[in-house]
Amino acid sequence: MNFIKTLKLKSKLVFVFIIIIIGLIIIGLMGGLNLNLMKKNLDSLYFGSLVPVVELNRILQTYHSKLNIVMYKAKNSQMDKDKVKSQIKSAIDIIEKEWKNYESHFKRDDELKYIQYTATEIKNVNRYFLDTVNLDKNIVQDISLESIERQITHIDKVIKKLIDYEVEVAKYDRKNFLKLYDSILFQVGSILVMVIFGIVVISYYVFKSIQNDQTALELTTKKLKRANKRLENASYTDSLTGLYNRRYFNIVYDRELKRAKRTNSYIAFMMLDIDYFKQYNDTYGHIEGDFALKSVAKVLQDTLKRPGDFVFRLGGEEFGILLTDTSESNCKLMANEVCDLIRAREIRHESSKVNQFVTISIGVAGCEADESLNEDALITRADEMLYEAKESGRDRYCMSTYVSKASIKEINQEDNI
Ligand code: GH3
Ligand code: MG
Ligand code: MG
Repeated sequence: MNFIKTLKLKSKLVFVFIIIIIGLIIIGLMGGLNLNLMKKNLDSLYFGSLVPVVELNRILQTYHSKLNIVMYKAKNSQMDKDKVKSQIKSAIDIIEKEWKNYESHFKRDDELKYIQYTATEIKNVNRYFLDTVNLDKNIVQDISLESIERQITHIDKVIKKLIDYEVEVAKYDRKNFLKLYDSILFQVGSILVMVIFGIVVISYYVFKSIQNDQTALELTTKKLKRANKRLENASYTDSLTGLYNRRYFNIVYDRELKRAKRTNSYIAFMMLDIDYFKQYNDTYGHIEGDFALKSVAKVLQDTLKRPGDFVFRLGGEEFGILLTDTSESNCKLMANEVCDLIRAREIRHESSKVNQFVTISIGVAGCEADESLNEDALITRADEMLYEAKESGRDRYCMSTYVSKASIKEINQEDNI
């Protein structure tokens, strides 16, 4: 059954279909052959025994009802001689014709002798009647009824013996026929059981194989999905920091902005930039610069843990933070906290003009979103706020918030420091 495994799904189903068709053909052929055999048996029973019995009975009947009666009438002068003669002749013709028919059927060797004997006796009896009517009228009347009776009884006995024999043969044939019928029934039944069993076994293997294929397919699909997910994650992740990259930012920003517009919730975007990072690289080297980037990323990731907060590395030493379902005060708190935590991380930065440690500047733009909110408004505004934070001394945040569609309120961190 190993070869079933190698077949494709369509071929497996075709294979089952072919097996079923072959099974049905075998059953059909067997049924047809056996039906033919039964027909032959029925024919031999019918023509070998039943028809001959009917013919013999007709002969007997002709002797009894025709010859006997005509002779009786002739003896009692109730019929003229010519009429008697013609009736006797026609009766004998019937008898001879029936006998000829009877003889024409297939005969077994063991009955031939008795048939020959019967033929002779019929001939004798017939001649007796023919001779009798050919004699003189008076002599006919002289013939005793006993003599006629004797002839009839004799031939009756002879033919009845033949009939008994044919009936016995018919019974024997019927017995054989029933035996054959039982054996055919058993044969066809056994073949049917075998074919069904074969189909069930092969179908079992085929369907088991299909199921295995299905399981393997499901497993492969799962693996493929996992691989796709990994690939997708990889394409959305920045390899240096492990944060989401700009590509994913574009997707999330678009999605969250639409959601905020639908629910009219407060959404904010922060643009972060490390202060004097060029100098950092110049002082400590690019590799140290990468470490510093990772440390900053880690601080951001550890700080922003709400399901609605997203942190991205937008490129170079620039980061982005998207806060959804938030508020103006929470944004200020978060921006302030991030500035403090980066500074508190104490990544030494000798060449910075604002602090001995690495610091960042943040531009924040937030608003209660509504349909009128332009898609790029928050990004542009955050960028402007970042510029402002840089210009006003770095290591701080500047925030701009839309209080209504028309007016924009700017908040500078100076008030908060
Ligand atoms: P400012 O305070 O005005 O932001 O000064 P800055 O020096 O940070 O400004 P600028 O944008 O000119 O410098 C950014 C630097 O960041 C330049 C580049 O050397 C550095 N940088 C960008 N990407 C990477 C990176 O992947 N790894 C490292 N180590 N440095 C990077
Ligand atoms: Mg920069
Ligand atoms: Mg910078």
